[in-house]
Amino acid sequence: MSATMPFASRTDVGRRREHNEDALLAESPVFAVADGVGGSAKGEVASRTSLDTFRTRAQEIAGARSSGDAVAAMERAVLAANSAVHEAQLRDHTLGGMATTITATVVRDGGEVIVGHVGDSRLYVLSAAGARMATEDHSVVAELVRSGKLDAAEAAHHPQRNVITRALGPNDDVSVDAFVLHVGPGDWLLACSDGLTEHVDDHELATTVLEHARTPDRAVERLVEMANERGGSDNISVVIVQPVPSDVSGELSIEALHAAAATTSQLPRVAPSDAPAESSGPLPAVTSDTTDELPEMEPIQHPEDGDFAHPHEARRRAVRAVVAVLVVLAAAAIGGFVWSQSYFLVEREDGRVGINRGFPFARLATPHRSSGIAAHELEPSDRERLVDSHRIMGREDAERVLEGLREQLETDLQADGEGPDDVAPSP
Ligand code: MG
Repeated sequence: MSATMPFASRTDVGRRREHNEDALLAESPVFAVADGVGGSAKGEVASRTSLDTFRTRAQEIAGARSSGDAVAAMERAVLAANSAVHEAQLRDHTLGGMATTITATVVRDGGEVIVGHVGDSRLYVLSAAGARMATEDHSVVAELVRSGKLDAAEAAHHPQRNVITRALGPNDDVSVDAFVLHVGPGDWLLACSDGLTEHVDDHELATTVLEHARTPDRAVERLVEMANERGGSDNISVVIVQPVPSDVSGELSIEALHAAAATTSQLPRVAPSDAPAESSGPLPAVTSDTTDELPEMEPIQHPEDGDFAHPHEARRRAVRAVVAVLVVLAAAAIGGFVWSQSYFLVEREDGRVGINRGFPFARLATPHRSSGIAAHELEPSDRERLVDSHRIMGREDAERVLEGLREQLETDLQADGEGPDDVAPSP
């Protein structure tokens, strides 16, 4: 069966990023997306490493004798991917701070799909009834939606919608959502990174894929085009596969789809973008989720996304981070050397930019150097990319970046007839 499954995949850098930090795997019956975080090409290493490792374990999932065995194998495969990303940065401190999402599927006989998921990439089931989200986002905003503090419409524009609460890489263990999903004849699976769902809503995912069901390559090409036409704010990756051939002709499916679109202003949106999947179809039958046993990690901000924490939210994040400190302390015990080599730019309480040494979590950093640079005087894009992102780098790189900001500011201010404050080493 797997040899004849129609599938297609596409990844694109988008319109605003310099690098594509997403990675894809589309080797039937194994399909996955990973969305790397880390900046300076580290995100690319994280996403590629996770999928390369996952790939080596996928056969164990496909060949498992039972669904339960397959789910257990899926969890082991994702944990192996986590270990690979985590250990790579213990070995090479220049990779410190990298992380990745993963949303992986292995299709087995009879429309049984084994899913493994960490982060805010997504898996959807698309049918003539619309799009049903099969994964939960591990993000601050999705947790607020699940707890009833935010509705889906607010979530779609929330400034922290890119902050994820679970990822592969930061810790030596991670809570994996692993489960069985059953799909019917003609249903499509769609896995994607958030660069697609940022711009294309659930209804459009379903209509676009079903309209181009006979040319899956064109379907994914069109989805990427739509995201780029609307700004392409992030890397865009999408993979679609039809595990069980439709039992009606393509023409009838398309007609039914158009009829539904014509008679109802929209197809049912079974799952609002950040809400848990509804039970309109088979739900995950087996879930392996050890959330309660693991401390929550510090939320990770996609470093070049333009949205950063409001001060109140920053304090709430800091409180959550206290839990994460225990994990980080353990990592720090192993990685003392990593700590000693880790520097990042930070905005101090007085609004000035400085360099801290250590990790940008809670109190696991000490001031290394101060400067007279006022954060609010920086170009917003520089401030977001270089200061607010808390990107880990070596000492020399950090000082070079600080010096570059000072020179830039000096140039700007001289143009205005003023001089900047000097960069001064901390006492
Ligand atoms: Mg992304």
